[in-house]
Amino acid sequence: MAGEPQADCLFCKIIAKEVPATVVRETETTVAFRDINPQAPTHVLVIPKAHYPDAASLAAAEPLIAADILREAGEVAAGEEIDGSGYRVVFNTGAGAGQTVFHAHAHVLGGRGLNWPPG
Ligand code: 5GP
Repeated sequence: MAGEPQADCLFCKIIAKEVPATVVRETETTVAFRDINPQAPTHVLVIPKAHYPDAASLAAAEPLIAADILREAGEVAAGEEIDGSGYRVVFNTGAGAGQTVFHAHAHVLGGRGLNWPPG
């Protein structure tokens, strides 16, 4: 069923605490944890507890949870004290855009200068 945990999904395993992660925030609908391969001093992933393969499918099925992800990205930035200096929220969508884990997630990046356009 849509949104149900998937046995072969790494991020569903992190939600279930079967795979360890450094969790920085958790709500009823979301988990935020540090990326294992950080690309900036702050690099936190915010994910829905419900399993959807990407941000667009999450937003189509569960718009309130998609909004929770955006709110939590802001809470992470405030907690890391990067909200004043600026931060970036990225949803890689599709393998061609660099998505490697097919469970919707926002990257929250900050703590250094961020170039535009991104690579
Ligand atoms: P994507 O490339 O799909 O946009 O982002 C997936 C992210 O998950 C990558 O930045 C990658 O470093 C991170 N990642 C992959 N495996 C793990 C893991 O086991 N633990 C954590 N904390 N992050 C992971």
